[in-house]
Amino acid sequence: DLFTFDEFLTHWAAERPDRVAMREEDRVYTYASLDDHTARAASALLAAGLQKGDRIAWIGKNSDLYFTLFFGAARAGIVMAPIGWRLSPAEWAFIVNDTQAKMVFGGPGFDTLAHQLAGKLQHDPAILTAAEAYAMIDAAPRVPFEPSGANDAVLQLYTSGTTGNPKGAVLSNRNLFALRKHSNSLDLPYTKWEDDEAVLVAMPCAHIGGTGLGIMALAAGLPGIILAEFNPDGVFDAVEKHGVTRFFIVPAALQMLLMHPRCASVDYSRLKYILYGAAPIPLDLLRQCIKMFGAQFIQAYGMTETTGTISMLPPEDHDPEGNKRMRSAGKPLPGVEIRIVDGDGAPLPQGEVGEVVTRSSNNMLGYWNLPDATARTMTDDGWIRTGDAGYLDEDGYLYIHDRMKDMIITGGENVYPAEVESAIFGHPAVQEVAVFGVPDQKWGEAVKAVVVAKPGASVEESDIIAWARERIAPFKCPRSIDVIDALPRNASGKILRKDLRAPYWEGYE
Ligand code: ATP
Ligand code: MG
Repeated sequence: DLFTFDEFLTHWAAERPDRVAMREEDRVYTYASLDDHTARAASALLAAGLQKGDRIAWIGKNSDLYFTLFFGAARAGIVMAPIGWRLSPAEWAFIVNDTQAKMVFGGPGFDTLAHQLAGKLQHDPAILTAAEAYAMIDAAPRVPFEPSGANDAVLQLYTSGTTGNPKGAVLSNRNLFALRKHSNSLDLPYTKWEDDEAVLVAMPCAHIGGTGLGIMALAAGLPGIILAEFNPDGVFDAVEKHGVTRFFIVPAALQMLLMHPRCASVDYSRLKYILYGAAPIPLDLLRQCIKMFGAQFIQAYGMTETTGTISMLPPEDHDPEGNKRMRSAGKPLPGVEIRIVDGDGAPLPQGEVGEVVTRSSNNMLGYWNLPDATARTMTDDGWIRTGDAGYLDEDGYLYIHDRMKDMIITGGENVYPAEVESAIFGHPAVQEVAVFGVPDQKWGEAVKAVVVAKPGASVEESDIIAWARERIAPFKCPRSIDVIDALPRNASGKILRKDLRAPYWEGYE
């Protein structure tokens, strides 16, 4: 069994030296050249004075340079912290300060990074442009170094910041290859990655849905096709021209593919699987996707703290004809324990809704520099509290209701926004919808929806409420509806309900 970046890179360089390992536009690496470039990246970082356990940071789009630096650093136990490029320079600086990174790399197109960070950092890291970083790797002689061990930290991935400030989840070699190990042991068609496959990295590398796919490609010895940033044309081209057989995207990105004029005419014959997750998916959107794409669908549930996927809803449960399992986040992967507990951490009987907790070799080492948050999130016996509300059915399928924090208590009843959003989403005039609780004298909280209308459509409050009433219980239906131009989302495509609800709660919380 292989457990570390050094082992995987060495293994594939020996087994399939000439196979394409990574491609971004016209820059192509074979497994032999990826081994060489990453070993020289490690050598260069060590020569620059970095040591095992030191941090480096990346601010940029997805790039072959990012993966070369990350894999190389990981070989030597230097920890990469990729930072979302869509954040503001002040937010970049906040995270760079948090990492204490000794070197900060700007991706292609981020040449003014040093100026943008000037005066904002509490320490004095070296800040390199992409050209300088490529040159550093090219010029470095390959020197022997001690490879990192399975339990050494190699990646510091920040959570999406959907519910608060992003937190740095520290992940080890073992964490990052756990998904490969767990899904391999299933021996099912959709977890077997065939030798003729290729994988698309379409989500940002600062999210586990981006970096994680690059790692899965390496683990399977397959080509990882890198998109600098998600865009429908990039995905369609990768499917038609580069033989991409699998990709992972978030629900908001699936909707962008669907709405694109090219969507219906793309040749999907080589595409096998579309993986989706990271946020609740409205049922109607999933149904439309199943009809449109000639691929099989797999839902993934997980979080940064669990190195991504811990449960999967397999293709056979994606039967759009009223299959109740379409609402499930699937079954825990082999090797992953999932339980539902009450507020005191005591297990609840099957079928009852509580907090989802999980234990496996996916679980992070801890949050960086946040001992209190780590102690709240990780129990002494190795469980992670996800903060998500859900239940397990009699067949062991997990159902995620929503975040515990976002649950609305109205007149003593619990309402999960995701269910209400899913009901309203199917309305023909609605393009996007977000639901949250607002203060209410009579009910404590009242359900509120904000919607974005489809281009050219007009939205009537009473009409949407009537639509919801036909689909969900009256107490779950919104009492009022606002129409806005666009929903606030973070770089992971998640709706920022905290930003929507804040103005209503001023003076209350
Ligand atoms: P932060 O922790 O900073 O508030 P975040 O929780 O959005 O941000 P991530 O680690 O990217 O950061 O996301 C994990 C969360 O995404 C899960 O806790 C869950 O709420 C949600 N999620 C992931 N997969 C699914 C899924 N398949 N269905 C519904 N929700 C999902
Ligand atoms: Mg979270």
